[in-house]
Amino acid sequence: KISEKYDKVFATGCMPIEPDGPKGPKANAAFVVLARNKELEGVIQSLKSIERHFNRWFHYPYVFLNDGDFDDDFIATVKNYTSAPVEFGKIDNSMWGFPDWVDPEVAKEGVRKQGDAAIMYGGMESYHHMCRFYSGHFYKHPLLMKYEWYWRLEPEIKYFCDITYDPFIKMQEANKTYGFTIAVKELRETVPNIFRYASAYKRKNNIKSKGLWEMFLEPPPEKEEVPPEEEQKQEKLPDEILQTEPGDKTLDDIDPEAMEGESYNMCHFWSNFEIARLDWFRSKEYEDFFNMMDRSGGFWMERWGDAPIHSLAAGALLSPADIHYFRDFGYRHTTIQHCPANAPARQLPREPYLEKTTDDEKKRIEEDEYWATPDPVKENGVGCRCR
Ligand code: GDP
Ligand code: MN
Repeated sequence: KISEKYDKVFATGCMPIEPDGPKGPKANAAFVVLARNKELEGVIQSLKSIERHFNRWFHYPYVFLNDGDFDDDFIATVKNYTSAPVEFGKIDNSMWGFPDWVDPEVAKEGVRKQGDAAIMYGGMESYHHMCRFYSGHFYKHPLLMKYEWYWRLEPEIKYFCDITYDPFIKMQEANKTYGFTIAVKELRETVPNIFRYASAYKRKNNIKSKGLWEMFLEPPPEKEEVPPEEEQKQEKLPDEILQTEPGDKTLDDIDPEAMEGESYNMCHFWSNFEIARLDWFRSKEYEDFFNMMDRSGGFWMERWGDAPIHSLAAGALLSPADIHYFRDFGYRHTTIQHCPANAPARQLPREPYLEKTTDDEKKRIEEDEYWATPDPVKENGVGCRCR
C-alpha cells in the first residue's frame, strides 16, 4: 500500500492546543527571515500571521538576515510583534555578491541580457545574489550555526490554519529531512541549463536515485517525437565566466547522453516555505552539489532560483521517505496558495464548528482523500502534479 511507503499527515483532524500551551520537548530550531528595511510592512504581516497561528504557543526564536544593516525602526517594530527571542544579522561578502573566481563584468552582462529578455527578476542583480545566498550559504550564517532546524518565513505570506503541533518535533520523530507545502513549476527561461548540471553531478558522483529524482522528470517522450528545434540548439553556459586554473575540471565534457534521455519537468518545492534540517545542507554531498552548480555560473548567466536548487539536490540525495508534505498547512504567498481541508474556509458547511474528528473523517484522512491536493511526491514518475 502506497501510504505505508510515503509520508502521512502528522496530525489528523482538529487538535486544540492545551490551555497552558504545548508541553513536550522543544526542537533546536528557529525561523529564518531574509529581508530589507523597506519590506517592514510585509514582514509585519507575516509575523502577525505566524504568531497568531503558531508561535504564540511555541515561542520559537527568529533570525532576521540582511545584506545591509537593519535600521532601528525595523528592529524595534519587529520586536513589538513577538515575545519570542529575535536576532538580527548582517550577511557579509563571503555569502553575498560575486565570489572572487567570477568576473563581475561578465556576470553583470549576463544579468543585463536577462533583463533585456524580460526574464522574471532576471535583470535584477540583487535577486541573483539572494537566490545564491539561499542556495549555498544561509545555513552557514554565524547566527544559524547553533540551530539544527529552520523554518523559512518571507515577507507578505499568510497562514490560515492554526498549527497546533510542533512540526520540528514531528519531523524529528518521523526522521524527516525536508518539508514543503506547495510544489509548482519553474519558469523554464530562468533555468534552461540547471538540469544538465544537476544530472552531471549525479552521474559524476555515481549517485543512484532513491526514488525522489523521478518526481522531477518529464515523462519519457513518445518514440517518434523529435525534440523542438529550439531545445536542440540550447546554448551551453559560456566558460569565460570561470577563471579556472589550467588543469581544473570544467563542465565542458558533459555529453547529452549523460542525462540518459531524462529531462526536467520544472517541478520544484516552493522554497519561500520550508522546514528542514540544517545539517543536510551542511553535508559534504550538498556542499559538493552547490559548488558544482555554482561553478557553472548559472546563478548569474541564468537566474537559477534556490527552490529548484534545493529541489534537485533533494532529488539527487534524498528519498521520498525523507520528505514531508505539510498538506495540513494553509499557506499563501502572493498569488499561490495551498488551502487544505482543515482550513476554516473549507469547513463552513459544518455545524457545529469542527470540534471532534469523526471516525469516518479519520479514515478518509488516513487514506489521504481528505486533502485538497494529491501528494506531489507520491505522484512521481508521471510528472509532478504541480499547480
Ligand atoms: P519572490 O518571493 O520570488 O517574489 O522574491 P522576494 O522579493 O520575496 O525575495 C525572496 C526573499 O528574499 C524575501 O524574503 C526577500 O525579503 C528577500 N530578498 C530579496 N532580495 C533581497 C535583497 O537584495 N536583500 C535582502 N536583504 N533580502 C532580499
Ligand atoms: Mn516573496
